[in-house]
Amino acid sequence: MSTLRFQAIKETLNRKPVQVNEPARRSEIFGKHVFNKAAMRQHLTKEAFKSVLDAMTNGSKISREVADHISTGMKEWAIQNGATHYTHWFQPLTGATAEKHDAFFELEMDGEVIEKFGGGQLVQQEPDASSFPNGGIRNTFEARGYTAWDPTSPAFIMGTTLCIPTVFVAYTGEALDYKTPLLRSLQTIDQAATDVCKYFDKNVSKVTATLGWEQEYFLIDSALANSRPDLVLAGRTLLGHASAKGQQLDDHYFGSIPSRVMNFMRDLETECMLLGIPVKTRHNEVAPNQFELAPIFEEANLAVDHNSLLMDVMRKVSARHSFTVLFHEKPFAGVNGSGKHNNWSLATNTGVNLLSPGKTPMKNLQFLTFFINTIKAVYKHEELIRATIASASNDHRLGANEAPPAIISVFIGSQLTNVLDELEKVTDGKLSPQEKTDLKLNVVGKIPEVILDNTDRNRTSPFAFTGNKFELRAVGSTANCANPMTVLNAIVADQLIEFKQEVDSLIKDKKLKKDEAIFNVLREYIKDSKKIRFEGDGYGDAWEKEAKKRGLSNNKTTPTALKAKVSKQSLELFERLNIMSKVESEARYEIEVEEYAMRIQIEGRLLGDIARNHVIPTAIKYQNTLIENVQGLKEIYGKDFKKIAKEQMNIIESISEHIEKINAGITDMTDARKKANNEKNAEKTAAAYCDNVKPFFDVIRYHCDKLELLVDDEIWPLTKYRELLFTR
Ligand code: ADP
Ligand code: MG
Repeated sequence: MSTLRFQAIKETLNRKPVQVNEPARRSEIFGKHVFNKAAMRQHLTKEAFKSVLDAMTNGSKISREVADHISTGMKEWAIQNGATHYTHWFQPLTGATAEKHDAFFELEMDGEVIEKFGGGQLVQQEPDASSFPNGGIRNTFEARGYTAWDPTSPAFIMGTTLCIPTVFVAYTGEALDYKTPLLRSLQTIDQAATDVCKYFDKNVSKVTATLGWEQEYFLIDSALANSRPDLVLAGRTLLGHASAKGQQLDDHYFGSIPSRVMNFMRDLETECMLLGIPVKTRHNEVAPNQFELAPIFEEANLAVDHNSLLMDVMRKVSARHSFTVLFHEKPFAGVNGSGKHNNWSLATNTGVNLLSPGKTPMKNLQFLTFFINTIKAVYKHEELIRATIASASNDHRLGANEAPPAIISVFIGSQLTNVLDELEKVTDGKLSPQEKTDLKLNVVGKIPEVILDNTDRNRTSPFAFTGNKFELRAVGSTANCANPMTVLNAIVADQLIEFKQEVDSLIKDKKLKKDEAIFNVLREYIKDSKKIRFEGDGYGDAWEKEAKKRGLSNNKTTPTALKAKVSKQSLELFERLNIMSKVESEARYEIEVEEYAMRIQIEGRLLGDIARNHVIPTAIKYQNTLIENVQGLKEIYGKDFKKIAKEQMNIIESISEHIEKINAGITDMTDARKKANNEKNAEKTAAAYCDNVKPFFDVIRYHCDKLELLVDDEIWPLTKYRELLFTR
C-alpha cells in the first residue's frame, strides 16, 4: 500500500473521540452569542431598542444618531462576551461568506488606546471588494462597493469577532450579494400576500416567508480526505472504483450514529445553540458516512443566514474532530448525493400559516388561494426554478444518469387532487346558493380531515406539498438558499398580484360576490396549471416522456438551464417587482456561467494530473512486475512459457490498452479545453466546457477505475472508495 494511503488509514483507525463539553440543558445557552431582543433590551436605551424593533418588523430607517446609541450598546455587549474585533458579515456571489475583521480599539492622536465602534462603523463599511465576482457591474470607473447593516438579522459573535450581517452592493446601488435581492423579494411577497389576506382577514398587516432547510453532508476522516487530491481541490472524487459494498444493504440510513460522529454532532449543536440556530434533528442518511441536520423553520432571511453560518461552523467544528465535511452534491459516484430541501411557507402576523388548512371554510378558502396560486406560479416559471438550482455540482443530481430528473413538477397528494378536481367544476360566474353550500360543506370544509390522512408522500417529487408547506427538494447541498427563496417569493408574489387584480375586476365588473369571484379565478388557475402536477414516480423514464408531451422543460445541464435567468419573462418579472434590474440579472447570469466553466476547467486539469501522475505510472510499475514475471517464466519453461504466462500477458496487454485510452482522452480533453477557452464569450465557453470537455471525464475515469481493479493493491496510490467510506 502506498505510504500516504497507509498512513491515512492508520491515523483514522487510531483516532480517539474528542470529548465535548455540553451544557445539561440546551435552552440555557440558546442565543447566548446573539445580540437578540433580550440582549438588546439590556444594553440599549429604550429609544434605540424601539428603533431596532421597528426596523426589524416594518423596515423603517434607523437615524444616524440612534445608530450611534445602538453601536455603543452592541459593542458593550460584544466585549462583555469576549469579542475583540468586529466585521461586516456578508454573502458575496462566490457562495462562501465573507468577513474582514477590524479591532474595536483605535489609537488616539496622543497615543492613548480607546475602544471605538460607532454608528458609522455599524451601519456602513467599504470593504476593498474589487476581487469579488460582479459580472461586469463594477468594471465601471466607480469600482467601490459597500456593505450595509441588515437589522432584520441579529449580530452574533463567532470566536472573538462580532459579526454584523450586511448586504453588499455596488457604489451605484446594484446588488453584489445574495441577501439584497432576497430582502427585496421578501418585501414584495409581504405586500402582495398581505393584500390578498385582506379578503379573508382585515387584521393581517404583514406576511413573512418562512424557510426550514435540511442540510445533507458527508463526513470523512481528514487524513483520508487529505490523501485524495480530488477531494481536496474539487470536493468530490473524480475517479475511484465502486466499493464491493456500498449502500445496497440500507444499513446506514437512520442507523445508530458512530461515536466519533456523534461527538462532532453534539459539539456542532452546542455551537449552533450559542449562535441561535435552532437545530432540531440529526440522523444518518442513505449513503455510508452521509448525514443530515435540520433546524426548526424561521423567517426566510434569518434562515438563509443561519444556513450559511451553519456551513461555516460545520467546517470549523469538523476540523476539531479531525473530519472533513463534504457539502458537494455528489462526492462519490454510485452512492447517494446530497441535497438541501427548502421547506417554504407563508405566515401572517396574526399567527396563521397560509399553507396550513384552517378550521372554517373561509380559512380553507384562504389556504386554497395560496396553495393554488403557488402551483400556478411554479408552472409559469418552472424553467426559472430549474435555473435557480443549477450548478456544475448539482448537475450530478439533476438530469444525470441518476435520478432525479431535471424536470420541475408539483406533487400535492391524491386527496388534494380530489379537492382541486371538485373546484374545477365550479360554475362560471354567479354560483347558486345550493352550490355555495355544497362547496362549503363538502369541498372546502373537508380539507382539514383530508390533510390529516394525507400520508401518501412522494419522495421523488422536486416540489412537494407536505401538509403545511411546500418542499423544494431539488436544491443542491452546496447552494445558498437565498437564490431559490428569492425566486419562489418573487414568482408567488407576482402571481398573487395578478390574482388580486382578477378577483377585484370580477367583483367590480361582473358584480360577483367576493367568494364567487375567488372561486371563479381559482377554477381557471387549476385548469391552467394542470400540466405541472404530477403524482407518479418522478424518477421513472415514463415521466420524462410524459413531461415532454406536456411541454415541460427538461434542461439537463447548467449552461442550458441558466438561460432561463435572462429570458424575457424572467428579466421582466424581476424588474416589475423591483427585485433585480436587468443589469443585475445579467450580471448574475454572467457570474454563474463563468463559475460553471471554471469548475469544469479545474476538474478537467485535476483529472488529467491524477490520471497521468498517479494512475499511469502506477500501472506501468505493475506492468513491469508482470513483464519480469513473464521473462522469468520464459527462462524456466523455454518455448512453452506462453501457455503458462498467458494470463499475465493478457493483463500486460489490458494495462497498455487502458493507458492508451487514458492518454488519448487527456490529450483530446486538453485540446477541447483550449478551444473552450478561446470561445468568444462566457456563455459559449461554458457550453463548450459542458458539451466538449466534460464528456471526457467519464471515459478517462472508466479506464482509470479498470486499472484500479487490475493493479496490485500494495502499490495503488489513491485511497479507495471502500477505505473512504468504511474506515472508522
Ligand atoms: P421531513 O421532510 O424530513 O419528513 P418534516 O416534514 O418534519 O421533515 O420537516 C422538514 C422541515 O420542514 C423542517 O426543517 C421544518 O423546520 C420545516 N418546516 C415545518 N413547517 C414549516 C413552515 N411552516 N415553513 C417552513 N418550513 C417548515
Ligand atoms: Mg424533507
